[in-house]
Amino acid sequence: MTGSMETSVDLTSLDGLVTAMRGGHRLALSRLITKVENRSADLTAIMTRLYPMTGGAQLIGITGPPGAGKSTLVDRLAAQYRQRGKRVAIVAVDPSSPFTGGAILGDRIRMQAHSGDPGVYIRSLGTRGKHGGLSHSTKEVVMVLDAAGFDVILIETAGVGQTELEVLRLAQTVVVVLVPESGDSIQVMKAGLMEIADLFVVNKSDRPESDKLVRELHTMLSLVMPGEGDWHQPVLKTEAVRDQGVAALCDALESHQDFLTRTEGRKIKTLEFLKSEVLDILTERLNLSVKKAFQTSSGVDLLNDLVARKVNPYEAASLLSGQTP
Ligand code: GDP
Repeated sequence: MTGSMETSVDLTSLDGLVTAMRGGHRLALSRLITKVENRSADLTAIMTRLYPMTGGAQLIGITGPPGAGKSTLVDRLAAQYRQRGKRVAIVAVDPSSPFTGGAILGDRIRMQAHSGDPGVYIRSLGTRGKHGGLSHSTKEVVMVLDAAGFDVILIETAGVGQTELEVLRLAQTVVVVLVPESGDSIQVMKAGLMEIADLFVVNKSDRPESDKLVRELHTMLSLVMPGEGDWHQPVLKTEAVRDQGVAALCDALESHQDFLTRTEGRKIKTLEFLKSEVLDILTERLNLSVKKAFQTSSGVDLLNDLVARKVNPYEAASLLSGQTP
């Protein structure tokens, strides 16, 4: 991204959109994201064009229970990264939301905190209008933002449902945000957050119970001592509304990113990301082709044979995939 805005841009062709996006044109970026989200007919062409431009961004996942202060914290964190000269994109993923696209009210309110700053971009992703899984489109939206030149992509999600956990697996660094009222650390272990967290944040540290939660988390972490050379999951305290502890959180995130670069971590995470991308593409294609196959006359015959118990589902799958049973 150069930051210089061209006066006349071509937003009708893919080449035009990509050139404009790389030049910092926000509408071009939003259009490309919408195309990816809606699985547009030129999806493959878009991803083919953008792929060589990806791989530079830091992908940071942020999760925690609703009301923990994630969006407040993410906004402060974005401001902190801006002070450090980084361009930041925020992707808020909510599998329960039917809304998608950059125009929703929440995005606009959040953008106001960064109004006029071309170095911050916010986008919400919900479940509407997609054919693939939400985690797949999130991954590809992240790739578009990466290609657009954002240095840091903050992927924010609430809760610990299947989709949320899948989304978090895309990140190189995962932050789990907790608050004293979100329950004790046993809850954290039960929810499987222990395994995925690279950093714990106790937000609302103005609340009297926060030190107790910090102690509990330390105790819990001491039960699984990391091996030599492994990452030690830190526990940080923040008060997002008053911007307290946010710079220290940013430092800790940078330390983790440095750790990944020093070790094999970054390579492993990149491989996992790309492996799951290929798997998602194949799954999406297979889904589509099976749906189409069932609509043909031989597909209908096959369905009838299944119902009549003449063919079993394994045989049907083999027939559809062209394999011998
Ligand atoms: P999210 O649902 O996790 O995204 O949480 P929000 O960022 O929307 O915050 C939920 C509420 O907690 C809002 O009213 C925030 O103003 C408030 N909040 C966020 N951070 C803090 C904090 O550090 N201290 C206190 N007391 N309130 C906070």
